[in-house]
Amino acid sequence: MNEVRVPKTATARGSILVISAPSGSGKSTLTRRLMRAFPGLSFSVSYTTRAPRAGEKQGRDYFFVSQKVFKRMIARHEFVEWADVYGHLYGTAHRQLQAAQEAGRDILLDIDVQGHRQVRQRLPGAVSVFILPPSFRELERRLRRRHSDAPEEIARRLHTASQEISRWPEYDYLVVNDRVADAAQALRAIVRAVRFRRPNQAGRARQIVSTFGG
Ligand code: ADP
Ligand code: 5GP
Repeated sequence: MNEVRVPKTATARGSILVISAPSGSGKSTLTRRLMRAFPGLSFSVSYTTRAPRAGEKQGRDYFFVSQKVFKRMIARHEFVEWADVYGHLYGTAHRQLQAAQEAGRDILLDIDVQGHRQVRQRLPGAVSVFILPPSFRELERRLRRRHSDAPEEIARRLHTASQEISRWPEYDYLVVNDRVADAAQALRAIVRAVRFRRPNQAGRARQIVSTFGG
């Protein structure tokens, strides 16, 4: 019911949507909901050198690779962007974006603030959303409750969060994840709005204008 069917011309390319947030803000929770609401949206599966968490699957959540493989990919210019986040390497492969864009599908990138900067420079048409936790204390509570990271890792993520959070002015949209249902609704509204941006509708508008003759 949430999927908005927007007619696209044969030449329409999908949009690139970037979502960033300090770790623990609820980005994965919200992203999962968004993907369920829009089956037509692709998810960009990143490469990372960090170890899989319980329940994470190779090729679905990430492509888990060694440092050696990751560095070879950097040398071969296979990444649109890459960054060192919390001591591990993460990157988005060009191949991921190309496949979605050629199919005219919108694609969602869950990447950090450093990756967002690189995407902004290289792909100026990308639209970005920053998710904020309601407060530092609530972020800490969520990270501890998730039980997926060791205490030192949580401390490192909280320290980084204080720096990341100051980058909110670089984003197109801001969503505070206080009540998850409200934040999810806001994200759905953003995806719908992106689909109606002029560049995404221009082909259709031209077709309609051509029916006016003169
Ligand atoms: P991220 O992907 O940003 O690191 P997660 O989606 O893993 O964060 O969420 C971190 C923890 O907070 C999880 O245990 C999740 O269930 C919980 N959480 C997410 N959103 C909310 C919310 N709005 N209110 C309370 N808890 C939340
Ligand atoms: P996690 O280890 O919790 O899955 O992710 C840690 C951080 O790395 C998150 O902020 C996430 O958005 C970011 N991240 C995941 N994939 C990429 C990527 O391909 N590039 C960049 N720059 N960051 C990424």
